[in-house]
Amino acid sequence: MNKPQILIVEDDNAVASLIATTLETQDYQYKCAKTGASAVMEALTYKPDVMLLDLGLPDMDGVEIISKIRAWSNMPIIVVSARSEDSDKVMALDAGADDYLTKPFSVDELLARLRVALRRVRYDSQRLSEEASVYENGGLKIDYAAGCVFLDGEEIHLTPIEYKLACLLAKNTGKVLTHNYILKEVWGSPTASDVQSLRVYMAMLRKKLEKDPANPQYIQTHIGIGYRMLRHQ
Ligand code: CA
Repeated sequence: MNKPQILIVEDDNAVASLIATTLETQDYQYKCAKTGASAVMEALTYKPDVMLLDLGLPDMDGVEIISKIRAWSNMPIIVVSARSEDSDKVMALDAGADDYLTKPFSVDELLARLRVALRRVRYDSQRLSEEASVYENGGLKIDYAAGCVFLDGEEIHLTPIEYKLACLLAKNTGKVLTHNYILKEVWGSPTASDVQSLRVYMAMLRKKLEKDPANPQYIQTHIGIGYRMLRHQ
């Protein structure tokens, strides 16, 4: 991959220049947009690898920008916002954001999230050129065609729902999936009370997938928000 291109969408000059300086230390290329309209235009013309998105912009809400971009692009979007309520995070993630960072953020945390997003870009383009019928992530392997799951070379037996959950997380590796999104994809029509049964299924899946379920290597919990499959090299 060439130098990663990052689009910074931020109307606060101080924050934009902090992010820009941080990206310069990593030799990343970047452009800045201060409004929602210019963010959408730059997303089309600059074609960034990752977008860093502030939600509070003068002309448009960030969630609206996510929906617009998701209509035609799968590029990773990391929300960087002062809004810290779970409901704000869930709204942005449900609209299709990949990840969420609350201001004030640490520069190291920002770079770590960016690396995760860039790995997803690399993985997606690699996957397009390969046969996408086998998923491999560290010691976890899913053979989609055969419907089999292996951990460190040994087949593990999942129930149909556990298997659906594992595949959904695997296909979105690196991305935070909200409870609502998972319920909709796996069960069709979610209600609030289903979140509790989702937790139970996740606990069962973890017992099978994780060597130490209390210290998960694969499935990360985002309390009040959802789950994410972590990428292993
Ligand atoms: Ca703002």
